Amino acid sequence: MTDYSDNRYVKLFDLQKSNQYAIGKTTYKIRLRKLKALKFALEKEYKTEIENAIYKDFRKPKLETDLTEIYLVVKEIKYAISNLKSWLKPQHVDTPLTLLGTSSYIKSEPKGVCLIISPWNYPLTLTFGPLVSAIAAGNTAILKPSEMTPNTSTVMAKIVKNVFDESEVALIEGEVDVAKELLKLPFNHIFFTGSPTVGKIVMAAAAKHLSSVTLELGGKSPTIIHESTNIKAAIRTIVWGKFLNNGQTCIAPDYVLIQESIKDEFVKAFKSKVLDYYSANPKDSESYSRIVNEKHLKRLVSYIEDAVSNKATIELGGDHNVSSNYMAPTLISNIAEDAKLLNEEIFGPILPIKAYKTIEEAINYVNSKEKPLALYIYAKNRKVVNTIINNTRAGSTCINTNAIQYSNHYLPFGGSNNSGIGKAHGFFGFQEFSNARSVLKKHTLGPLYLLLPPYNRLKEKIAEIAIKWF
Ligand code: NAD
Repeated sequence: MTDYSDNRYVKLFDLQKSNQYAIGKTTYKIRLRKLKALKFALEKEYKTEIENAIYKDFRKPKLETDLTEIYLVVKEIKYAISNLKSWLKPQHVDTPLTLLGTSSYIKSEPKGVCLIISPWNYPLTLTFGPLVSAIAAGNTAILKPSEMTPNTSTVMAKIVKNVFDESEVALIEGEVDVAKELLKLPFNHIFFTGSPTVGKIVMAAAAKHLSSVTLELGGKSPTIIHESTNIKAAIRTIVWGKFLNNGQTCIAPDYVLIQESIKDEFVKAFKSKVLDYYSANPKDSESYSRIVNEKHLKRLVSYIEDAVSNKATIELGGDHNVSSNYMAPTLISNIAEDAKLLNEEIFGPILPIKAYKTIEEAINYVNSKEKPLALYIYAKNRKVVNTIINNTRAGSTCINTNAIQYSNHYLPFGGSNNSGIGKAHGFFGFQEFSNARSVLKKHTLGPLYLLLPPYNRLKEKIAEIAIKWF
C-alpha cells in the first residue's frame, strides 16, 4: 500500500473515516437539523455573499443565481426534509414460498466517506446539491469544487466551516492537483460532475479501490424541432435555455435539428427573441453573463473560426471581446459535418442549426453520436414525439421546453454511458449515496430444512419440484 501519511488529505480522510459510523447512526432528527442549518446559511446568512461571488466569477445576473443556484439547493433540502423519514424506514419485502419461516427487509445504509468533485458552471448547485443527498443518507463528505470559480469556492468553504465539523464535511479549495491527490484515497463513494474526459479519469481512479461512482457528465444535447411546432412559443424557451448562464449549462440545447420547411421562420424568430431578451447590445445587458475565463472564450472563438473557414453562415452574432470574456449570442447554419461545432460539446452561447427533411433523418443523426444527457423535442404532433422518444436514447427529455426537468426533484437526473452513470436529485440522490442492505431473519424451520445434507433421491426430487413450481 502507498504511504500517504504526510498528506493532509489523508489525515482528513482518516478523521472522517473514524467518524463515519457515528455519523451513519445519527437519527432522522439530527440529519434534519443539519439540513436546516445549511438551508439557513444559503437563504439568509450568505445569500448576498453568494450572489456577489458568482457575479465576480462570471458576471452571472443575481436573478439567475437566485433561481439556478440558491433556489435549486434550497428546494433539494426542502424535499429531503419532507421525505427523509420515509426514505430511512426499513422497506419490508415479500417472502417466497421456499423461504417460509423467514422475513426480509431492505435497510438504506450510508456508503461511508464520500468525495464530491464539482464543476464551475453552477458552482453552488453542483457542490451542495449532492451534499444534501450525502448528508440525508448519513455519510461524511469531502468537497472539491472547481478552481475556475474561486470566489464562489471561498464562500462555500466558509459556509461548510460554519455549518459542519470537518470530521463530517470539509471543503478543499485548489487546483486540479487537489482532485488528483484526493482520488488516490479509498473513498466509499465518489460523486463527480464534469466532462466525460475527466469522468474517465475519475472512474479509473475509483476502480483501484472499487469505490462506487456517480458520474454526472456532459456532451451534446440535441433539440429536434418538427414542422408541427408553434415556432413563436418554442423560441421563448429555446433562446432562454441556450443563453441562460451564457450557454454554460450541461443540459442547454447544444444544437438544433430543424425541419427544412421551417428553417427560415426559425432563424427570423430567433433573432427577434434575442433582441427582446438581451437588446441590440447584449454586451450591456444585465441579463447576459460572461464566459468563465479567457481559455474557454478562446475555445469558443476557435469553434466559430473553424466553422466559418468551412463556409458556415453566421446568422446572428459571432463577435466577442477577449478582455471581458464576452461572446455575443450566436446562431450558425450550413456547418460542415466534421466541424468542431457539430462534434465537440459547445458549452457557450453558440447555437448551430442543421436542417433535416424527415424525422427518421433527424433520429439517425442523433443516434450516430454519443448518448446525450438531454434530448429536446419541439412538436405538436404526438406521433412524431413518440417516434423520437422510442427510437433514441437520452438521460432526459423535455417536450416543448428545455432544461427545466432539472428542477423537478421527483425525476431522476443523470445521463447514460458517455453522458453519465447513476442518478441525482431527491430520492434518487439519496439512493446513490446509500447501500441497499438486504436483511433476512429466520423465525421458524422452513422447507429448506428438508434439503440439508446428507442428500438423497427424495431430497433431489423436492429440489426438482421447487425448480418447477416455486
Ligand atoms: P471538468 O471535467 O474539466 O472539471 C470538473 C472537476 O474536475 C473540477 O473540479 C476539476 O478541478 C476536476 N478535474 C479536472 N481535471 C481533473 C483531473 N485530471 N483529475 C481529477 N480531477 C480533475 O469540467 P468543467 O469544465 O468544470 O465543467 C464542464 C463539464 O461539466 C461539461 O462537460 C458539462 O457538460 C459537465 N457538466 C455536467 C453536469 C451534469 O449534471 N451532468 C452539470 C454541469 C456540468
